[in-house]
Amino acid sequence: MTKQTLSFQAEVQQLLHLVTHSLYSNKEIFLRELISNASDACDKLRFEALHDAALYEDQSTLEVRVAFDKEARTITISDNGIGMSAEEAIANLGTIAKSGTREFVGKLSGEQTRDTQLIGQFGVGFYSGYIVADRISVESRRAGLSVEHGVRWSSEGSGDFEVETIERVQRGTEVTLHLREGEEEFLSAWKLKSVIGRYSDHISLPILMRGEEWDSEKGAYLAKDAWETVNKAAALWTRSKSDITDAEYKAFYEQLAHDSTPPLAYTHNRVEGRSEYTQLLYLPAKAPHDLWNREQQGGIKLYVKRVFIMDDAKALMPSYLRFVKGIIDSSDLPLNVSRELLQENRDVKAIREGSTKRVLSMLEDLANSDDASKREQYATVWREFGAALKEGVGEDRANSERLAKLLRFASTQADAGVSLPDYIGRMKEGQDAIYYITADSLAAARHSPQLELFGKKGIEVLLLADRVDEWMLAHLFEFEGKQLQSVAKGAVNLGSLQDEGEKQLAEAAAAAFKPVLDRLKETLKDRAKDVRVTTRLVDSPACLVAEEGDMSGHLARLLKQAGQAAPDSLPILEVNTQHALVKRLEGGERFDDLARVLFDQAVLAEGGQLDDPAAYVRRVNGLLV
Ligand code: ADP
Ligand code: MG
Repeated sequence: MTKQTLSFQAEVQQLLHLVTHSLYSNKEIFLRELISNASDACDKLRFEALHDAALYEDQSTLEVRVAFDKEARTITISDNGIGMSAEEAIANLGTIAKSGTREFVGKLSGEQTRDTQLIGQFGVGFYSGYIVADRISVESRRAGLSVEHGVRWSSEGSGDFEVETIERVQRGTEVTLHLREGEEEFLSAWKLKSVIGRYSDHISLPILMRGEEWDSEKGAYLAKDAWETVNKAAALWTRSKSDITDAEYKAFYEQLAHDSTPPLAYTHNRVEGRSEYTQLLYLPAKAPHDLWNREQQGGIKLYVKRVFIMDDAKALMPSYLRFVKGIIDSSDLPLNVSRELLQENRDVKAIREGSTKRVLSMLEDLANSDDASKREQYATVWREFGAALKEGVGEDRANSERLAKLLRFASTQADAGVSLPDYIGRMKEGQDAIYYITADSLAAARHSPQLELFGKKGIEVLLLADRVDEWMLAHLFEFEGKQLQSVAKGAVNLGSLQDEGEKQLAEAAAAAFKPVLDRLKETLKDRAKDVRVTTRLVDSPACLVAEEGDMSGHLARLLKQAGQAAPDSLPILEVNTQHALVKRLEGGERFDDLARVLFDQAVLAEGGQLDDPAAYVRRVNGLLV
């Protein structure tokens, strides 16, 4: 291939502009990103060489070298990893294949401009070189290709880049940054070493730099020929716990998760026995931007005997714990393990179970701590990841009891943070069920007419408004022997909380109201499967309830929004005979309009949509006039 000039993909151009203009405040991260790419390239070579040892070309010690040239004003980062072919250089350095990029660009141009972690998180780290360089050239040869199939890529980081084939003896990649005016501070061994120490110490490959010695004749430090390793070069998790500081654990997390917010907790263990492995798992303090997406990347990297095998090893952690970040290094799995194989492997199952238990313990330690600040951290965990944990109740039957204790809710007595044991502790004398209501939002739940009687009697009701709540409730029927009961389903059943006197009064009222009820049923027969008198309401005239065993209106709406079929079971309309509007029905005047307005209002009150809003408005106006 002779020299060609190609344009960057439009998104790359946009990105380059943002990178150079907004990440400047933390410019030294370019080194972390380029070393991380070099390290990834070595991991990839090691992995491919499992099947084809010839790829090593007699050079199986993998390493990264960092050098600088004061005169030429360049910094060079080279590796003897997998390298790139010309096509790969064009594709990998000129376009962005990843789907999250648009979002990244959006975030970077928004308020979070200074969050430099984003750049690694979205897989666009290479371009961070342009924070300090006005030209980057890359020379590379892919492992397995012959010497004349090297490539040179070069660009000033604006509209286009150049590529040509070259001869290159050395396998792997060499990235040369031509520093901008004013970035001379990086032309110093001391500076580069300190940046490497800060961000890349735990990279498991050796990072080499030339040693320096003082030359008294020239009055300057000069580079020696010998290269020295400047990082620890041992994978953190292989070191003994007692030798690792909290700061090192946190720095490792930062690199692993591309997250500058320190983790809330971590756990590092060597597990021996039936299956041998090391786990280092972190509990992040912030949810990723796509936690709700069950297909999102998992956070676990799998290593086998210290060889990196794969990112996003979903089989190693249940889906509801997909926010946990960390690594698992197995001693038993075959090196050539594939994703398919992972699904069925017995050792993997044992690892997943063991890791799940560890994570649950981490969560329990925070949730049940005597230390208020730890409990506060659990509140953060819940706020960020609660929606995922709720999935666990149905997904992980073996741990559903432990998970149920970790759940936190809003209730009629607290804005948040109510656990099921808390609730049980506050139950009224004679109360034998855990009451809840689901709605489209917390505000809608809190103001549901169905809560009126419970409010009057001072009975706490859990308020549920997460999308996953209905799904969770389909699996969580009871907790410590107490049934979970919706206050919007079935007849009001307060068990022994029911006041005998009230009950008799209600029955008498219902009997007297029978003719009106019959007429209501007839009028609304295509919309309500029944109409009955209720004691549930205090201030509202009417509400809808689902028959025991029917799907709630809320769940039916969720399903329909998600484009799924929901059974069209009609609700039951309950009316409050004490309410003036309901009393008006007895007069019989404008009966039809009044009945339909009552029904439509009950639909609106639970967050539903009217089939014919214009008709509703017409009727209400008619009544108002
Ligand atoms: P990411 O590392 O998240 O994929 P980058 O922008 O850092 O994103 O790098 C883009 C791509 O360029 C990498 O995925 C890789 O394919 C290629 N690349 C970058 N640096 C190297 C390198 N030193 N050796 C081989 N390939 C590289
Ligand atoms: Mg990268």
